Amino acid sequence: MATATQHFDAVVIGAGFSGMYMLKSLRDRLGLKVRVYEAGGTVGGTWYWNRYPGARCDSDSYIYCFTFDKQLLQEWEWSERYPEQPEILRYLEHVAKRHDLKRDIQFNTRVTGGEFDEANNLWTVHTATGETVTARYVIAAVGCLSDTNLPPFKGIENFKGKWYHTSRFPHEGVDFTGKRVAVVGTGATAVQAIPEIAQQAKQLTVFQRTANYCVPARNGKVDPERVKARKADYDAIVQRIRESFFGQEHYFIPKSVLETTPEEREREFDRMWDEGGFAYWLSNYQDMFFDQKANDLCADYLKRKIRDTVKDPAVAERLIPKGYAYGTKRQPLDTNYFETFNKSNVRLVDAATDGAIEEITEHGIRAGGKEYEADIIVFATGFDAMTGALKALHLKGRGGRTLDQEWVDGPHTYLGIAVAGFPNLFAITGPQSPSVLSNMPVSIEQHVEWITDCIEAMRKAGQTTIEAKPDAQQEWVEHVNEVVSGTLMTATNSWYMSANIQGKPRAFLPYLGPEGVGGYRKKCDEVAAKGYEGFALA
Ligand code: NAP
Repeated sequence: MATATQHFDAVVIGAGFSGMYMLKSLRDRLGLKVRVYEAGGTVGGTWYWNRYPGARCDSDSYIYCFTFDKQLLQEWEWSERYPEQPEILRYLEHVAKRHDLKRDIQFNTRVTGGEFDEANNLWTVHTATGETVTARYVIAAVGCLSDTNLPPFKGIENFKGKWYHTSRFPHEGVDFTGKRVAVVGTGATAVQAIPEIAQQAKQLTVFQRTANYCVPARNGKVDPERVKARKADYDAIVQRIRESFFGQEHYFIPKSVLETTPEEREREFDRMWDEGGFAYWLSNYQDMFFDQKANDLCADYLKRKIRDTVKDPAVAERLIPKGYAYGTKRQPLDTNYFETFNKSNVRLVDAATDGAIEEITEHGIRAGGKEYEADIIVFATGFDAMTGALKALHLKGRGGRTLDQEWVDGPHTYLGIAVAGFPNLFAITGPQSPSVLSNMPVSIEQHVEWITDCIEAMRKAGQTTIEAKPDAQQEWVEHVNEVVSGTLMTATNSWYMSANIQGKPRAFLPYLGPEGVGGYRKKCDEVAAKGYEGFALA
C-alpha cells in the first residue's frame, strides 16, 4: 500500500455546489486544513460536465444559487429565469474566485479508493494520479446525478459515426448541421436537447422508451421590477424556501382535486400551466401524489395539451405517457419539445409501438427489426442516480466493508448523511435525504452547515469519531420507505425507484418526508440538539 504523503483535517470529494461550499465552510469557518479532489478540470460539478445543447437550470435562478453569501445575492444578475449551463458555470467560477477556493482544490484528480484505519481513526484516500493522503474526515460531495449511465447496447463498438453521452459532452460542442442524428432517451435532459438539435440536424430520430409528461419552462427575461423586489425580500425568501416542502416557492393547493368542479380545476390548471416551470408539478392539488383518481385528473389536462400541440394524431398518441402516474418521474421542463415533433425532419421511434432498441449497428440503431441510420448518436440515458457515484469511490469502512456490500438491496443511510460502519464519512445530499426532490442548493447548504456544526461540536468536545448507529440507521431506512409507500411514486419505473438501470435493486432513493425539506431540516436540527442522537461519538 502506498504511503500517505500528506495529512488533512478533511478531504472533500467533488467541487460542484456542495464541495465548494463545504470547503468554504470547513476552511474559513472552522480553520481546518482541507483538500478538495475534483475529477473535472475546474469547479462546477454537474455544470462542468453537462454541456449538451439546451442544458439549463430547471429551478428558478433567483433560488438556484448560494444563499450563504448575502452580498453576492444582491450583486449577481441572472440573465434569465432559467440560465443556461455556461452562465451557471460562470457563476460558480465567480464564487470560487470571490472566496479563493481554487487554492485548496486539486482538479483533474479522481478519487479511486479509501480505507478507514480503525487503529488511528483516520481515512486514507487514494487518487487516480497516484496520490495517497490521510484525513480525519471525508466528505463525499459527488452529486446525485453524476455517475453516467450508458446502457450496454449490443454492437455499440461497431458504430462508424460519432456518439456522445449528454453528461460527457465535448467542451468544444458538436456541430449537428446537415447530419442525421439519433437521440436515445426522453428524460429531462433529452427534452432540453431535442428541440435544439432538431434546429441543426438534417434529420433527427428520437428513440423513446417511456413517454414523458412535459410542461413548458416558460424561460425568458425576468421583469426588472420583480428582480428588484426579490432582492429586497431575500432574507424572507431564504427563510421560506428552507421551511418549504421542495426548497422552492411552490405550495400544494390544500384541497382535493376530486372536490373541485371541472371549471374550477381547469382555471387552476391553466394558471399553473401559464406560470410554467415546476408549478404544475409542485403547486398542484395536494392529493395528486397520493390518489390515482386525483392524479388522473391532473394528467388528463397534460394529455390534452399534447394532443393540441402535436399535429399528427398518431404521433401525439405515442408521445402521451401511459401506465404510470403523473409526477412520479422527474418533471421535464420544455421549450418547444412537443412542437418539435411537428417538424418534417423529426421522427419518433417509440419502443412500445415501433419496437425497442435491439442493437447499435455500423450505420445507426436497429429497433423493432428496422435500422434507422444516423451519423451521430446522442445518448441521453441518464445516471446511476444517488448511489452510483458514492459506490464508485470504493471506500472501505470498518472491517474493510464496502458500500457495494452494505447496499446490496438499496441504500442504507442515517438521514442520508452517514452510513453505519463508515465513521467520519459524510455525504452531502446522499440517498434517503430530500436531495433530488428539492431545489438542490437549499439541501446542499443545509447539509454543509449541519456537517460543519457537527465537526465543530466534535472538536470542542475532543471527540475523534462519529458514526451512525445501526439501529438508528435501520429506523431511518424504514421511515423513508414507509413514507413513500403511501404515495404513487413506488409503482413507477423511475430512476427515483432505481428502475432505470437493469439489475439495480429496486429501492426509493431520495426522501419524501411528510413535511418535505422543512420537516427534514427540523429533524436534522433535533438530532444535533440531542447531542447527535442516533450517532455514536468517541
Ligand atoms: P433520465 O431521466 O434517467 O432519462 C433517461 C432516458 O433514457 C429515459 O427516457 C430512459 O427511458 C431512457 N433510457 C435509459 N436506458 C435506456 C435503454 N436501455 N434503452 C432505451 N432508453 C433508455 O436521465 P436524464 O434525462 O439525464 O435526467 C436525469 C435527471 O437529471 C433528471 O431527472 C433531473 O433530475 C436531472 N436533470 C436536471 C436538469 C436541470 O435541472 N436543468 C436537466 C436535465 C436533467 P425510461 O424513462 O424508460 O427509463
